[in-house]
Amino acid sequence: MSADIVVVGSLNMDLVMRMPRAPGGGETLPGHDFATLAGGKGANQAVACARMGASVAMVGRVGLDANGDTLRAALLADGIHADQVKPLASTHTGVASIWVEDDGQNRIVVAPGANGLMDVGGVAQAGAAIDAARMLIVQLEVPMATVQAAVERAHAAGASVLMNPAPAAPLPDALWPLIDILVVNESEAAALAAIPVVDPASAGIAGTALRAHGPGRVIVTLGAQGVVTIDATGCVHSPALPVKAIDTTAAGDTFIGALAAALCEGQPLADAVALGQAASALCVTRRGAQASIPYRRELGTAASPPPTATP
Ligand code: ADP
Repeated sequence: MSADIVVVGSLNMDLVMRMPRAPGGGETLPGHDFATLAGGKGANQAVACARMGASVAMVGRVGLDANGDTLRAALLADGIHADQVKPLASTHTGVASIWVEDDGQNRIVVAPGANGLMDVGGVAQAGAAIDAARMLIVQLEVPMATVQAAVERAHAAGASVLMNPAPAAPLPDALWPLIDILVVNESEAAALAAIPVVDPASAGIAGTALRAHGPGRVIVTLGAQGVVTIDATGCVHSPALPVKAIDTTAAGDTFIGALAAALCEGQPLADAVALGQAASALCVTRRGAQASIPYRRELGTAASPPPTATP
């Protein structure tokens, strides 16, 4: 198994129920409808990379149950190497119970299950794939020690490390210098930099502070306000594409997948950001998590140079 991009991260089944309003304690209410949707930041980002044309391997854990079978099958359907997505009999597949009220408010509870058992030993088992990759992508829905082990292994092997610290949590000091590309949304940037992030100017200030910790490139995503990129050449704001958003689930994951795929092709950062924004703008016009992630052929900006340069 050899892939350009290895994602070490989470797989979750999203259990989405829409309802007029959330019930109070002890109350039972009729809901509108229910859907099970493949998700988890790790799996979403792997799918986004694959749909942009990258070769991808996923490393993670599911339960020995129907949700795990479905999530693994979803990866395989997108051509993702999944031999390091191992089923564990001792627990359940990660689930996110998502309540969506009529006013658009979301309430989400995640039971990590097998994601919590994706351990350092699992990184060693996937070591050959990490060593052969051009880029490692990690998030924080598996244990921090696992993330750290994966990052250290990839860095030692000369791969680029893309860190998406979501959900936001402080990163160990030793991890920061090993990160090549940090991608954060508004709330993650605010949490990590400890300043409010509400617009491109404040995103630039937060991103610059985060870059001082070690990552050469920091990208702050700002939803409908687009993206701020901070690298050695300075700080650039790229507005989002104007679209009518109906569901922003997986917008950030889609952006990251497209960005990573383009960087692995040797595209300049600005072009990779443009592909990320094109892909995520299309994603927000559709409902669902993995179901809403576009394929490269659906995008107008699909031109890709030969895959040679190091990202
Ligand atoms: P996350 O899903 O991690 O919170 P964001 O909401 O910042 O991430 O979205 C990531 C990217 O998706 C944005 O930088 C932008 O390119 C695109 N995007 C998100 N919302 C919209 C929107 N309403 N219109 C156009 N593009 C959007």
